[in-house]
Amino acid sequence: MSQTIGGGAAPAGLYVHVPFCLRKCNYCDFVSLPIGRAGAAGLVRPYFAAVRREADRRAPELAGRAIEGVYFGGGTPTTIEPRELAGLLEHLSARYAVEPRAEVTVEANPGTVDAARLGDLRAAGFNRLSLGAQAFQDRLLARLGRAHDAAAIKAAVAAARAAGFTDLNLDLIYGLPGQTADDWRATLRAAVALEPEHLAAYALKVEPGTPFHRDQAAGRLDLPGEDAEAAMYEDAREAMAVAGYEHYELSNWARPGSRSRHNLLYWRNRDYAGLGAAAWSHLGARRRGNVGDVAGYIHLVEAGADPVGEAEELDPRRAAGEAAFLALRLIEGLSLAEFAAEHGRSLEDLFPGAIGRATASGLAAREGDRLRLTGRGLLLANQVFQEFVD
Ligand code: SF4
Repeated sequence: MSQTIGGGAAPAGLYVHVPFCLRKCNYCDFVSLPIGRAGAAGLVRPYFAAVRREADRRAPELAGRAIEGVYFGGGTPTTIEPRELAGLLEHLSARYAVEPRAEVTVEANPGTVDAARLGDLRAAGFNRLSLGAQAFQDRLLARLGRAHDAAAIKAAVAAARAAGFTDLNLDLIYGLPGQTADDWRATLRAAVALEPEHLAAYALKVEPGTPFHRDQAAGRLDLPGEDAEAAMYEDAREAMAVAGYEHYELSNWARPGSRSRHNLLYWRNRDYAGLGAAAWSHLGARRRGNVGDVAGYIHLVEAGADPVGEAEELDPRRAAGEAAFLALRLIEGLSLAEFAAEHGRSLEDLFPGAIGRATASGLAAREGDRLRLTGRGLLLANQVFQEFVD
């Protein structure tokens, strides 16, 4: 599938995975090494050298494409010295056509930042900071295994503002073990009171292989339950709306003008290259995931090999289905005309009856050219997405 806008190549994004954290959170299945673990700190320099080399290798794939978003995620990029992150960003800017006004995000853990470190990152060209706040109750943060308390979140926001960050995201999680409705409402109030430009709220997922998964198997994970979780989502929608945030994606809210351009590339099914261990790339119908083992990744790149672990080429129908459910994550929904123009066939033609079933169930609504999720559909989005997955 080729994606063009006005005859030119569509904008694209770059994702860099930084697989180091202060320590491992109890719910986390991302590829990340606690920096204090034996040998982990010694991998940092070789890892960044390998990412530079991978960036050189992959640069032709996005030759001539305007890079609208660069995202350093993880992991916790801010466990790494700012000069290492700055050096990598400079390297990428020399090899890819990063737009002068590109959104350049760095994820941070509140326990790992101060005004001086953030000032260095801001000066290096990072213009958006995404802080993993998650909750504002110390007992819940401790239960999650987070390396910070609630006071550290407030201090990190103040440090970010002092460092000149004017585009700040806070990530929150709901449906936590031991979390009450009042806890969640207090978290929403505390988050909004810090006046970030952007907020994301995700439901906790208990992933295999995590301490939470083991706790759940042993009957020791007191989750609030599905109904309470749905009520928490409704609370978030209400609190954000009252505070003037636009709900623009299933789990994301922004002040007017502050929607994440990088994340919009994902939901609009645009191309992006992922660099680093476990990073995924999306290039037309091609999907590619790098190996997740950090030392293995370094070894492959150092040997001059491609660090890819998995790759597949989606057939046109699967690619179109993926584009459809990604677009439906956006509150504005999907333009049926744009979809047909992009994929050469209408949504109805590719997925007969899907629109009718989704609208008849009340989970989606059709308004002129657009198909979008209803309020109930936002809660049961996966049921709609299933229509577009074989
Ligand atoms: S800080 Fe983020 S990436 Fe690191 S262990 Fe915790 S949840 Fe995982």
